[in-house]
Amino acid sequence: MDKSVEQSDHVIPEAEWDSPMFNLAQQQFLQASKRMDLDENIRKRLLFPQRALITSFPCRKDKYSEVETVFGYRVQHVLTMGPTKGGIRYHEDVSLGEVSALAMWMTWKCALLQLPFGGAKGGVRINPQLMSRSELQRLTRRYTMEFVNMIGPDKDIPAPDMGTNAQVMAWIMDTYSQQVGHAVPEVVTGKPVVLGGSKGREEATGRGLVYLIQDAAYHVGIELKNATAVIQGYGNVGRNAAAFLEQLGVKIIGISDVSCGLYHEKGLSLGAIDDHIQEHGVLKGFSEAEEISNSELLELKCDILAPCALQNQITADNASYINCRLLAEGANGPTTLEADRKLRERDIFVLPDILGNAGGVTVSYFEWVQNTQEFAWTLEEVNNRLHNIMVEAFQRTLLRSQRDDVDMRTAALIEGIQRVSEAKLLRGVFP
Ligand code: GLU
Repeated sequence: MDKSVEQSDHVIPEAEWDSPMFNLAQQQFLQASKRMDLDENIRKRLLFPQRALITSFPCRKDKYSEVETVFGYRVQHVLTMGPTKGGIRYHEDVSLGEVSALAMWMTWKCALLQLPFGGAKGGVRINPQLMSRSELQRLTRRYTMEFVNMIGPDKDIPAPDMGTNAQVMAWIMDTYSQQVGHAVPEVVTGKPVVLGGSKGREEATGRGLVYLIQDAAYHVGIELKNATAVIQGYGNVGRNAAAFLEQLGVKIIGISDVSCGLYHEKGLSLGAIDDHIQEHGVLKGFSEAEEISNSELLELKCDILAPCALQNQITADNASYINCRLLAEGANGPTTLEADRKLRERDIFVLPDILGNAGGVTVSYFEWVQNTQEFAWTLEEVNNRLHNIMVEAFQRTLLRSQRDDVDMRTAALIEGIQRVSEAKLLRGVFP
């Protein structure tokens, strides 16, 4: 292993892992590990994923003579805790480093929530918006075949992430089931309900984030009925978070998607926005609000700012201008290390991603449990259990941050790392 790894502060990753996002995940881990009594061997062990598949494979386009070569990944960070778990991302920037960072965060997320999984993530470097439904289906089935031996209900269980959805999970489930000769719904989560998906899974990430916002708002003294919120991203997470916040009486003054940001100081009407999206596909062109840029959106004065889009949004450049009291991270990796430092100085309370967006994988866990028991829960049962798990994890993280005098992100990481480390020490080294 590289000598610099031992010095702990400035890891120079092995060349194949060298990427800004993986470096962020490693540095977060190393910083948290300095605040705890982490076994030195385990610290080195956890810095890199245990398994990573890199594949290039052909995807036939609708025009039969055209075949595109695409790149796909599946990374399993820790196999100690049970099967590995994590979504599959379809995005044109996907790389080994990005998928590895996301896999590492899944490990801490599952351990923090005390789910019996290690972390994994997958991705294909394409823009799904530029593909037809039949191209996406062919791509998904071929990608599944590339990593069919890595996945399974007891091995590694994929789920949706950015650019994928319940339909993609249905194709993965079908492809896997064709290989083993019988239906295996429990090989993926986030499926359509008719194929064994869990009630409440679709909106679980947004719902979980809002459960946490309720507790965090109480902690920092924000009264939600008079509060304002800005949501970056209007995909599955952002849209649901906005809707649940609106139900609590929060005024949503800003939202955005890839096309633009929207602002209205009196509050946006989500119903009218959904109608507009239904017709036009994107936020752009919505006439009952002011159009603003992404950077203007992030700097709006509000009580709650929820980044629910891409990584690397709150950085050294804009952290000083973030104007909220509570930062609720629905996205994975939206905040850089330097930005974290500035937010801390400015006393902005952070619900860190591995806690903030953990509602999704928590209901994925429920889905897997329901599938393996062949028994379906009611929506009320799902939401009650989700609420209990999220609130307990929030309280545990808050307590840790107060006791160890660390910020919420470090506290959440310590909680996760501690659990994985204990399990690793108990299992020992083979042979
Ligand atoms: N992709 C989601 C995440 O980042 C969900 C993963 C899952 O449900 O397994 O947490």
